[in-house]
Amino acid sequence: MRAFEYFTATDSKHAVALLAEHAPARIIAGGTDLLADLKSSPSHAPKTVVDISRATDMRKIEVNARGLCIGALVTHSEIMASKLIKEMFPALVDAAHTIGAVQTRNLGTLGGNLVTAVPSVDSGPTLVALDAQVTIAGPAGKRSLPLAEFFVGPRRTALKQDELLVEIVIPTANLDKPAHFLKMGLRKGQALALVNVASSLWVDAKKNTCRDVRIVLGAVAPTVIRAKTAEKFLEGRVATPENCAEAGRLAVEDARPISDMRASAEYRKDLVAVLAKRTLEAACVQARAMKQKGARK
Ligand SMILES: Cc1cc2nc3c(=O)[nH]c(=O)nc-3n(C[C@H](O)[C@H](O)[C@H](O)COP(=O)(O)OP(=O)(O)OC[C@H]3O[C@@H](n4cnc5c(N)ncnc54)[C@H](O)[C@@H]3O)c2cc1C
Repeated sequence: MRAFEYFTATDSKHAVALLAEHAPARIIAGGTDLLADLKSSPSHAPKTVVDISRATDMRKIEVNARGLCIGALVTHSEIMASKLIKEMFPALVDAAHTIGAVQTRNLGTLGGNLVTAVPSVDSGPTLVALDAQVTIAGPAGKRSLPLAEFFVGPRRTALKQDELLVEIVIPTANLDKPAHFLKMGLRKGQALALVNVASSLWVDAKKNTCRDVRIVLGAVAPTVIRAKTAEKFLEGRVATPENCAEAGRLAVEDARPISDMRASAEYRKDLVAVLAKRTLEAACVQARAMKQKGARK
């Protein structure tokens, strides 16, 4: 690895100032991805690295007027341990649990995971299914955009060179929205997704119909994508296993998988149909359980 200058930020404002002062600099959070990158391609080594891991204002998990806010520095292990997230969005805990092994989850952050923007990014599908927004800080102040628009290509995001991902917000309207995540890899642990899928929906308590359906696919396109044909089919339809299965079949139409050494495109398409169906059925089961508990929605 080549030598570089190293600065530590005390909070997000300080990080933005350091990024501006030492441009072009690379950010390090947990370092699980960045360090491997610097070791494998020393020619891309930055002159300066800004360490944000001690920026405590980016470590919060809280519900406020905007919704559920998760700081970019929250680790996958912290997501798994959070009572709040477990109760509101077990799908986020399930997604975190599939990432790497304990060591990777203890160091790796949610923000770092999203910024890597690989097509198989495991925290992406559930958050997109919940219409999450990202807050970005830069020299001009803060801006917010849907996570779905944050991913612009493989390993490319909407972040500018001098910007920082500060937090991820699941909007108030989606708090407690039933959602489910599933991932298929070549092994149970330490495996990248061949396909990962998250679905979310509300089920009308009286008519048993689905609304605000989101079906989000990973590892079958250059970025995480919504299966809009399938979403449209299920919107307003009765929440039955048959309709979930048909939505799964339609989700395949939105997928653009490639064949590689890990799986063929055809196999990935089969996985999309099966995982989409199962995530939808599981979200419907959650919705019914909420109804039984006398929940509002
Ligand atoms: C053995 C191993 C297994 C893995 N398994 C999985 C897996 O199963 N699924 C999966 O999705 N990923 C996996 N990963 C990838 C990686 O661990 C995760 O993506 C992790 O969450 C990255 O977070 P980090 O904090 O370590 O990021 P870092 O390595 O610190 O940074 C990653 C990138 O994001 C940038 N960055 C980090 N934080 C910010 C921020 N707040 N604002 C702007 N830019 C930022 C950095 O500059 C860098 O470009 C694995 C990695 C390893 C080493």
